[in-house]
Amino acid sequence: MVDERGIKLLRELSESFGPAGFERETAIIVKRFMEPYAEEVFSDKLGSIIFKKTGTKERPRILLAGHIDEVGFVVSGIDEKTGYLTFNTLGGWFDQVLMSQRVIVRTKKGDIVGVIASKPPHLIPQEDLSKVVKRQDMYIDIGATSKKEAEDMGVRIGDPVVPWSPFSTIKGGTVAMGKAFDDRIGAFIAMETVRRLSEGRIEHPNTVFGAATVQEEVGLRGAATVAHVVDPDAAIVLEVDIAGDVPGVTPKEAPSAMGKGPCLVTYDASMIPNQPFKDFVIRTAEEMKIPLQLTQVARGGTDAGRIHMSRAGCPSVVIGVATRHIHSHVGLLSLEDVENAIKLTMELVRRLDEDTVKSFTNI
Ligand SMILES: [Zn+2]
Repeated sequence: MVDERGIKLLRELSESFGPAGFERETAIIVKRFMEPYAEEVFSDKLGSIIFKKTGTKERPRILLAGHIDEVGFVVSGIDEKTGYLTFNTLGGWFDQVLMSQRVIVRTKKGDIVGVIASKPPHLIPQEDLSKVVKRQDMYIDIGATSKKEAEDMGVRIGDPVVPWSPFSTIKGGTVAMGKAFDDRIGAFIAMETVRRLSEGRIEHPNTVFGAATVQEEVGLRGAATVAHVVDPDAAIVLEVDIAGDVPGVTPKEAPSAMGKGPCLVTYDASMIPNQPFKDFVIRTAEEMKIPLQLTQVARGGTDAGRIHMSRAGCPSVVIGVATRHIHSHVGLLSLEDVENAIKLTMELVRRLDEDTVKSFTNI
């Protein structure tokens, strides 16, 4: 299971403020945490953080990537009369999960807590009660009573907004609950892998580049610049997987379940994985006796969508942690799955030598 220090880091990452395009606070956490364990921690010019650890060989260069941006919002206007805020989305949201939720607005004068306003049922006409309210018709209430008051509180158009959602563990400490597991859990796995390789002085026949990428939720943008900077020979993208053990979801829509082991994504809308690499992951998991779920995400993509097409191409796989209720205020995941994903990633890094990586693309 993830130890206490790991839980503390995961809490810090989860609760940090970092919607797409505004990841600085989360990036600083990654940088500070990784400095003792990496030879070099640096950022590219879009804001992603890269941490490097050389093993017994310079090449192959192995990229472990997880994105640190979360889905959020950006203030689009302030209502003249009432001081309520309108907002656009950063990333994909289902309008129904927004209502009555607390949010944090980051202004030039500091953070403000607000709530996405909803009318009491008494005031909604009977025929509208079963309808979904559109995001365009929603407002964030920050307690202001006029535009001037909201402006005096520091709010400006373009200010970023994230869900307010404290991290907790439930089910005897085996399940984590909180926001932004998509995809701080991926960044966490990359960080933990490099930390454990470094602390345990574990040999690996390659150079590892961990990356906390930015702006994935708005179109895999950070992955493009990270792939250019790192120039990887193989990439493991660490992500959430959409858990299918949710009422109303069928296995053919989402085959994985929380607590049944890490997931290997066999297909998504942004990438078909390199097949020998995919088989190598399956074989490694079998040999390590790590449970592995094979999944598909027909709609949706990951950073691997960019990375596998960078330069002359890069053999890539996506390893995920089945997470319930992603892209909402609160997600759930199994900390045992996280531990197994770390163990699997570490073992893959230990085994990815030059010949193995070359075999992925030999015709
Ligand atoms: Zn996402």
